[in-house]
Amino acid sequence: MTEFLDEIRSRLDAIRAEGLWKSEPVIASPQGARVLVEGREVLNLCSNNYLGLANHPALRAAAAQAMEDRGFGLASVRFICGTQDLHKALESRVASYLGHDDAILFAAAFDANGALFEPLLTDADAVVSDALNHASIIDGIRLSKARRYRFANGDMDDLDRQLRAAREGGARHVLIATDGVFSMDGHFADLATMRALADRHGALLMVDDCHATGFVGQGGRGTPSRAGIQADIVTGTFGKALGGALGGFVAGPGPVIDLLRQRARPYLFSNALPPAITGATLTALDLVEGPEGDALRARLDANARRWRDGLQALGFDLLPGTHPIIPVMLHDARLAQEMARRLLSHGVLATGFFYPVVPQGRARIRTQMTAALTPTDLDRALDAFARAGRETGVIP
Ligand SMILES: *Cc1c(COP(=O)(O)O)cnc(C)c1O
Repeated sequence: MTEFLDEIRSRLDAIRAEGLWKSEPVIASPQGARVLVEGREVLNLCSNNYLGLANHPALRAAAAQAMEDRGFGLASVRFICGTQDLHKALESRVASYLGHDDAILFAAAFDANGALFEPLLTDADAVVSDALNHASIIDGIRLSKARRYRFANGDMDDLDRQLRAAREGGARHVLIATDGVFSMDGHFADLATMRALADRHGALLMVDDCHATGFVGQGGRGTPSRAGIQADIVTGTFGKALGGALGGFVAGPGPVIDLLRQRARPYLFSNALPPAITGATLTALDLVEGPEGDALRARLDANARRWRDGLQALGFDLLPGTHPIIPVMLHDARLAQEMARRLLSHGVLATGFFYPVVPQGRARIRTQMTAALTPTDLDRALDAFARAGRETGVIP
C-alpha cells in the first residue's frame, strides 16, 4: 500500500510540476450568468448553460412538481421497477423533437455513447471515427468488437479513404461516428459531406450533438437540422442547454432503440433517471420548442457575435467559427492558468483548458456564451479580458 501510494503521489507531483494541475472553482450559488465564487459575485463565461435554463423558474417549478408527484428516486434500473410514465413521455418527446422513430434515456451522454456501439456492432462491422471525437465516443468504440478506422478531424477526403478501406476490408455494416460540434474548438462537423459519403459507401451516420441540441439548427434541433440532413443515430445530453442537470439519450430507428433497451450495459445495469430530471426536461423541451426558445436562441447568437468581435478587436488569438464556444488560444498551460486567475480577480470566471483535455501546446481559455448574459455583462467581461490580457502580455 505504501509503495502504491508513493507511486500515485509521484505522478501527482509530476502533474503539478508540468503546470497541468486542475483545481475546481467552488460555486456557492445556482449556476447562471453570475455565480458566487470565493465570496464574490462574478460573471460566468465557461458553462454549457447556453440558453440560461439551468436555474430557470419554469424548470425549477417542474422539477419540484415532478418530485412532489413521483418522488425523489427510483431505486431501480429501468427494466426491473424503475420506469415511470415520465421516462416514456420524455423518450417519445426527444424522438419527436429530433425527428427519429424512438429514443432511450441514459444517466448521462457519456453512458449513451458508452452504450451505443457494443450491442449494435460485431467484429464483422466497422466504425469510422473522427480523430477529435469526444472521449465517451472513443471509449464506447473501444468497448465494441467492431473494426476501427479513424479519419483526421474534419478531413472529408480522409473519411472517404477510410470508408473505402472499411469496405475493402469486407466490413458488413459501417458506421461513421462524429461529434456534431467539436467541444474544445467549437467548430461544426461537415455533416452534409458526411451524409453524402455515408450514402455513397452504404454506411450509417451517428452524430453526438451534446453541444448543439436545443440551440443549433431550426428550432434547436441540432447540427443535422443546421446541415439540412438526417443522421441515422443521434446521441445527446440533458446536461447542457436543456436545463443542465444530468442525463443523456440515443435517438434513432425503432429496432436500434429496441436492441439497446435489451442489451446496452449502462442501461441494464444502472439506475433510472429521477423524476425531478425527467419532469423538468420535458418542460425544457416545451420551452426550447416554443417562442421563448426562439428568443433565447436569438439572444445567444447575438451574444456570441458580440463577444467574438469584442475579443478579436482586443487582439486575442481566437479559433474561427460561429458557435457560442469561443476559445481564446494561449498555447501554454501555465499561461492559461495565470490568465484564468487574473480574470477571476477582475470578476470573470473562465477556466483554463490544457492537456489532457486539449493537446499539449494547445492550452486555451474556452469561453462560452449564454443567452443569460446581457450586453452590459459582456462589456464588463471584455474589460476584464483586456486587463488580464495586458497584465499577462497576451495582448499589447
Ligand atoms: C458533454 C459531452 C458529453 C457528455 O455528456 P454528459 O451528459 O455530461 O455525460 C458527450 N459528448 C460530447 C460531445 C460532450 O460535449
